[in-house]
Amino acid sequence: MACVSYPYAAPVSQTLFDRAAVVTPGGVNSPVRAFRAVGGTPRFMVSGDGPYLTDADGREYVDLVCSWGPMILGHSHPEVIAAVQAAVARGTSFGTPGEGEVELAEEIVARIGPVEQVRLVSSGTEATMSAIRLARGFTGRPKVIKFAGCYHGHVDALLAAAGSGVATFGLPDTPGVTGAQAGETLVLPYNDLEAVRAAFAAHPGEIACVITEASAGNMGVVPPLPGFNAGLKELCSDNGALYISDEVMTGFRVSRAGWFGLDGVVPDLMTFGKVMGGGFPAAAFGGRADVMAQLAPAGPVYQAGTLSGNPIATAAGVAQLRLLDDAAYEKVDAASARLRALVTEALDKAGVAHRLQVAGNMFSVFFTDEDVTDYAKAKAQQAFRFTPFFHSMLSQGVYLPPSAFESWFVSTTHDERALERVAEALPGAARAAAEAAE
Ligand code: PLP
Repeated sequence: MACVSYPYAAPVSQTLFDRAAVVTPGGVNSPVRAFRAVGGTPRFMVSGDGPYLTDADGREYVDLVCSWGPMILGHSHPEVIAAVQAAVARGTSFGTPGEGEVELAEEIVARIGPVEQVRLVSSGTEATMSAIRLARGFTGRPKVIKFAGCYHGHVDALLAAAGSGVATFGLPDTPGVTGAQAGETLVLPYNDLEAVRAAFAAHPGEIACVITEASAGNMGVVPPLPGFNAGLKELCSDNGALYISDEVMTGFRVSRAGWFGLDGVVPDLMTFGKVMGGGFPAAAFGGRADVMAQLAPAGPVYQAGTLSGNPIATAAGVAQLRLLDDAAYEKVDAASARLRALVTEALDKAGVAHRLQVAGNMFSVFFTDEDVTDYAKAKAQQAFRFTPFFHSMLSQGVYLPPSAFESWFVSTTHDERALERVAEALPGAARAAAEAAE
């Protein structure tokens, strides 16, 4: 297949983007969708089928984003669609408890040992925001430790990723977040237990919780070094703080029990989203029963949601989770391994320095010849190589995340035919990356 130069025309998407820009800031409802990091016209998708997406111009792509993780069974899985259709036919929202919520909660509790109780919400942001409120309410302490490069949604207190030096108070890195909102957040380097130890020593009795991505996926894939998560858990236990593992991205994706299923470190609280909603807005936080018992109406920490536990979202989530058995994870893992081998081969052949970093079936490519263990190293990669790589793939019908700092995702439906299409596109993209100039 010939490599078309970028950005090649996508006239219908461009027209939609122009219309969108009039009525929506930047033309999108979530910033990364705007292609700002790579330039060109964001593709407006109209349908998805298995590993493929079709855009408004009628072009088909092999989808390596999978809606940023949720579509682990591919698009339009017949059993998920059937469950959704059956639920829709019964009504769309009741504002009362319903059996679907119980089923989804039971499915989560059954899969993930440390989750004794769970509360359903509608987005990962809500899950982490609520978990932090609960940790503060439970411990009666104000401060939160997070790690630079870890994203936990757009929670005010967690949009503090800047901050120079170890144990610096977090500076808000967006206007609209006040110093007061971010000031109780300590931002530390990822994979640096010493920094965490120092922060606990500097703030005795003040730290409510440490929140970390179970395995970082929002600065590209940067897995925890051996012993990092276990060390966090130990430091939290020793200092009376709660250990919150954010599994919004890894949960139900990297194994039946998410990252917990791979590393076995037992958090006090966990957060979930993405896969558990089957492509609908459903998320959750859960963990120790004594901590969860502090939540309203059982306890005094307030938390609520008009559409929490929505019957369509829970039907989709239950259907998707029930289909995710060991065989399904084996398929996703195998597709990921095959894809990684293809990417490595193409980049090696083109002589492009890179590191392919892996967390279960999630992975990303860093254009660097050093292992990436924290945000500073992630940012030091030659990100300029990603833009031509991305556009070459896009022009050949492969949809990658439009940023060098995002995980790639595959599904049970990424079969040989889909991966063969990726294999055909890779050599041209690798050459484009090799020829890229800063
Ligand atoms: N936590 C993690 C680890 C995430 O990756 C994300 C989103 O990408 C969130 C939280 C926020 O989830 P949402 O976008 O559903 O608010």
